[in-house]
Amino acid sequence: MDYLGRQQRLREELHSSRLDFLLVTHLPNIRYLCGFTGSAGALLVSAAGSRLFTDGRYTQQAREQVQGASVVIGRKSPWAAAAEQLGRVRRESRSRSLRLGIEGQHMTVETRRNLAGMLPGHVRLRESPALVERARMIKDGGEIARIRAAAALGAGLYDHALAAIGPGAREVEVAAKLEYAARMGGAEAMAFETIIASGPRSALPHGRASDAVIEPGGFVVCDFGVILHGYCSDRTRSVHVGTATSEARRIYAAVLESQLAAIAVVGPGVAVGKVDRAARKVLQQKGLAKHFTHSTGHGVGLEIHEAPRLAHGQQEILRPGMVITIEPGVYLPGQWGVRIEDMVVVTERGCEVLAGTQKEFTAI
Ligand code: ZN
Ligand code: ZN
Repeated sequence: MDYLGRQQRLREELHSSRLDFLLVTHLPNIRYLCGFTGSAGALLVSAAGSRLFTDGRYTQQAREQVQGASVVIGRKSPWAAAAEQLGRVRRESRSRSLRLGIEGQHMTVETRRNLAGMLPGHVRLRESPALVERARMIKDGGEIARIRAAAALGAGLYDHALAAIGPGAREVEVAAKLEYAARMGGAEAMAFETIIASGPRSALPHGRASDAVIEPGGFVVCDFGVILHGYCSDRTRSVHVGTATSEARRIYAAVLESQLAAIAVVGPGVAVGKVDRAARKVLQQKGLAKHFTHSTGHGVGLEIHEAPRLAHGQQEILRPGMVITIEPGVYLPGQWGVRIEDMVVVTERGCEVLAGTQKEFTAI
């Protein structure tokens, strides 16, 4: 991974954001910038270089992982150690005041207050724009290779779910078999709590696997993903249990048409809102738009939900290297729901769907 290049680009951004330092405290951002995967750390970035502050549990790990930053092992909290370092810099600095950017989206009010209390005079706290998140939207070749591998591993899990789904099986059992296969396939973890939602629970867009017993009639929505080499996968398939009504088939076909219509407009230069509209338009024409109650998709990478968000009113323009999901759904409260989701890489010419198979209507 090109950690040095990432940090160099961030330094340029700091300059144009009128910041002297950025204190990176969001762990996925730290990982992105210097490779450190520990659970405690703060990375202080400035034109002069980068320093990672962490504690004694991570001495060896930091030495092995961190690139492009010096490592400081301390006894205090990482941000307190960073504040001390700023005190030293301040004493040696000739400038009247220094501006320290913090990641406002990721810092608690209490930490901010404590940090402000520890900073030397003439160091001003500023809420930084989401500089690292913006950089992370565009994946490089190494990241896309990892995401592709995660998507392939994740996609293979659906066969394990299908083999377990049937009348009488509990949702948690299906999830257990799927997750066991994920671990055996090398997954570091699941990317989020597996959703196996059957019957009326399938009408809950985020129905985590429960001890409910699967019964004939309606869909089982399976939404699952793995973390492999740090990168997440995300995929949803919906399978019908028992004989399907024509209404169930009609709605499944509508969701699939909506998903394909949205994928068809994905490409560089396209506003994310346009992709969202394309998905909604199909459902509108079939009188189903009011049952599509969430956004069309989201970025995926080191985190399961990251920028950009594909929703009404969002302004972001798609660029090559972005990896997003396309996941329209229709949910009939008290009855059942259907969602179909794939990950899509934006390319120079359009897009590439990762593991976009197994989308034909299936009944068990
Ligand atoms: Zn999902
Ligand atoms: Zn998703």
